[in-house]
Amino acid sequence: MPTTIGHSLAAFAVNGFNRVPINKSMMITGIVVANLADIDFLPGFFVGDPNRFHHGPTHSIAAALFSGVLFALISPLRKLGFMRVFVLLSGLYFSHILLDFFAADTSSPFGVPLFWPISDQYFISGFSIFSDVHKDSSSGSFIQSLFVMHNFWTIVREILILTPLTYLWFKLGKTNS
Ligand SMILES: [Zn+2]
Repeated sequence: MPTTIGHSLAAFAVNGFNRVPINKSMMITGIVVANLADIDFLPGFFVGDPNRFHHGPTHSIAAALFSGVLFALISPLRKLGFMRVFVLLSGLYFSHILLDFFAADTSSPFGVPLFWPISDQYFISGFSIFSDVHKDSSSGSFIQSLFVMHNFWTIVREILILTPLTYLWFKLGKTNS
């Protein structure tokens, strides 16, 4: 799985590609939606194992579509029009699933359940573009375990890959508008 930084950079790329005006509410909504799938760490925290429910149904196309509908109805962006916000935010959410699909995964289940609830099968790319994130399986040491050199290099790799893409998509968005 990529880090929050990687997912947030992907959000800027999707925003740029969709030629969405960049303002504070767009940036906040973009970052929240691009990272929302990892909310599945939370229930695990309560049972002492943050990884237990990770890469569950929140990492599916169905969750991306549901999230798109929900945010098109309730987010401050809804004034842009339902379909536009739905496509944008479903795409933003799906960017998270796509990045996880192309990331190294060192713990089972490997990859993402793309077609949940139709199928419980997990999918992962045959090659990794992004690195994995080192994290403990105990709630007590989970946060502390994130601050290691391995994760620093994971972030550097994400920035090197995603910053040029983000820039390019912003430029494309501007020249096409
Ligand atoms: Zn994820």
